[in-house]
Amino acid sequence: MSNLENILPLNSWFTDLKLTSQIIIAGPCSAETEQQVLDTAIQLKKFDKVKIFRAGIWKPRTRPGSFEGKGEEALKWLKKVKTQTKLKTCVEVASPEHIELAVKYEVDILWIGARTVANPFAIQALADTLKDYNIPVMIKNPINPDIELWQGAIERINGAGINKIAAIHRGFYPFEKTNLRNIPKWEIPIELKTRFNNLPIIGDPSHISGTTEYIKDIAQKGLDLNFDGLMIETHINPKQALSDAKQQLTPSELNNLVSNLHFRTDSTVTNIAEIELLREQIDSVDNQMLELLAKRMDIIEKIGNYKKKNDIAVFQLRRWEKIISTRKDFGNSLGLNIEFIKKILQIIHKESIMRQNKLMN
Ligand code: PEP
Ligand code: MN
Repeated sequence: MSNLENILPLNSWFTDLKLTSQIIIAGPCSAETEQQVLDTAIQLKKFDKVKIFRAGIWKPRTRPGSFEGKGEEALKWLKKVKTQTKLKTCVEVASPEHIELAVKYEVDILWIGARTVANPFAIQALADTLKDYNIPVMIKNPINPDIELWQGAIERINGAGINKIAAIHRGFYPFEKTNLRNIPKWEIPIELKTRFNNLPIIGDPSHISGTTEYIKDIAQKGLDLNFDGLMIETHINPKQALSDAKQQLTPSELNNLVSNLHFRTDSTVTNIAEIELLREQIDSVDNQMLELLAKRMDIIEKIGNYKKKNDIAVFQLRRWEKIISTRKDFGNSLGLNIEFIKKILQIIHKESIMRQNKLMN
């Protein structure tokens, strides 16, 4: 149960921000030009589904030379968004200087990005600066699927006296190729919600999806798990976007998508039957097992090609014996039944041999 200090549920900091309806945060991945920012915001305002406008001001890019954001200049555009549309604003901060500038331009909510959350030194530096402010902070999951790191960041920010906190689920870096840009690993946000009942969770289906194709399903899945809101990247002209072009929706596409989502009236995860939460975890584990099996079969094919080229027999008794004995010991140390391990390995090995035989012939 929660050891966070007085953490406030989203509806209470929403009252503070004078926000009342469904929690949809939208806006471009990056603030690129004044026109792009204002046009996007005005359109979003017109559809009236969104109360908070997001925009990246400083962009963490994997390689130098990509668009790195407009910095302070763009904060002026966001201030105009506030006056012209009455939307609240939120931006990503990654350094103490970012926080100071965001506050100077009256940004309403800050968020901390996935790469920053992975670094406790950076988080502590942000926490130390946040001691001087009373501003809501949303904390994305770290890029690596480490719940302790996510929790640690939340605790550090809360330790600085911030009690308007939300977590953002944006998925985790995939080591294997998948259709999604980031794998959701739903069991992790579920576990976080179990640890901190009060902590609001916002889904970020844009960064999980990576293209517009899966955004709706992933958004709905989050709502089905009683997430408290969604953050969805929206650009007036996605094709021309300087970052994350493939995953951004136009304001009108966002309006359609949100209109077709099913929102639940209750927003506490405790109302989801415990068995549903556990099933969610099983689904996720099964998917990961299947991904790993597919990965194993890829390697099997590579070895098959090697054997063919070098005229080596498919079945190697000593290798098989070694597989059985090492896996038996390891599985047993994890509490798995030895007969069960053997049976599973036999099935996998049989399939592997069959694949290699096919290759050979
Ligand atoms: C973003 O929201 O634009 C962003 C950079 O996200 P993340 O930190 O999740 O990669
Ligand atoms: Mn983005």
